[in-house]
Amino acid sequence: MVPTRYDVDRDALATLLADEPRYRVDQVWDGLYRQLGSPAELTALPRPLRDRLDDDLPAALSPVTESIDRSGDTVKWLFGLDGGPHIETVLMHYRDRTTVCVSTQAGCAMACGFCATGQGGFERQLSVGEIVEQIVRAARRARDDDRRLGNVVFMGMGEPLANYDPVWAAVERAHDDLGLSARHITLSTVGLVPGIRRLANEDLPVNLAVSLHAANDALRDALVPINRRYPLTVLVGACADYLRAKGRRLSFEWALIDGTNDRRIDAHELADLARSLPLPAHVNLIPLNPTPGYPTRGTPVAGVRQFRRWLLDLGVNATVRRNRGTDIDAACGQLAARVEVAPPRVDSVSARAR
Ligand code: SAH
Repeated sequence: MVPTRYDVDRDALATLLADEPRYRVDQVWDGLYRQLGSPAELTALPRPLRDRLDDDLPAALSPVTESIDRSGDTVKWLFGLDGGPHIETVLMHYRDRTTVCVSTQAGCAMACGFCATGQGGFERQLSVGEIVEQIVRAARRARDDDRRLGNVVFMGMGEPLANYDPVWAAVERAHDDLGLSARHITLSTVGLVPGIRRLANEDLPVNLAVSLHAANDALRDALVPINRRYPLTVLVGACADYLRAKGRRLSFEWALIDGTNDRRIDAHELADLARSLPLPAHVNLIPLNPTPGYPTRGTPVAGVRQFRRWLLDLGVNATVRRNRGTDIDAACGQLAARVEVAPPRVDSVSARAR
């Protein structure tokens, strides 16, 4: 794969600019990360250099579609990648902040049955440039909308901790070069314990969100298959160590599935687990979003409210996440990179049938 403009680090850029005055490295880096510009737009550079960099440092993402939800506050992009896969990125403007949700893999191998990305299987890992460019494009769009991108959540397609090195390099870029604070960067994981342990040793204290969805192994084995490899006691042990290392509260994601994990007993199990950590976990509740491959519905509004009440009464902080972008299939678990493809030609179908 050819390195793209956000794949190269400063050293690689310096090599590329070896024939140029030294200050060009800072100039180009600044252009990419502060101006959020493409090489062609960096008018401080001489024209021939701009043209050369535009060729040498291509963009990683080709925009295919852009959808904006009814409220105008959620934008979803479908991007094509080198070699054909597609990913989605979602930008969300809230009253007080602007957040981008980025993908870390094309597809996902974790196979959670209720998640549209999981239903589609794994395609390939994203490079650091493919991840960072999602953030940069979102930051640029936010700026055009007179907002400032302040938060990055690694909650799009894929499992961030199953693509650890590029993801961590992207976190460092977001922090060091795009100026986002670690407190405003969140990694969401299905619960890959070795990855959580590695994270605990990193310098930047990013937020960790663990997609729990069940607080007993039998149910979690069914909902989140990786639980068979890293069962709850092991997972919670790693979470406790992360907390101790970072001193930062961690959150549990809980997609409420009608009649499955929204009963009083589920709230009790969850509360016990959340409170077993050195600092009680914060619970993010979200009614399950509909996806084509999963028959069970999300918990109705009244049930969601009830479930939250149970948790609060048991001494656990819980918030209900607002559903954003359901009408453009941009909500949690709905990212599936559906691309309109032409129906197969009749002759090829009949050829296969023969
Ligand atoms: N693989 C990572 C990050 C991507 S998913 C992880 O599992 O955390 C981001 C969040 O959306 C996860 O909490 C995931 O469990 C949740 N999710 C997946 N499908 C969903 C659905 N249909 N409705 C609501 N949330 C869903």
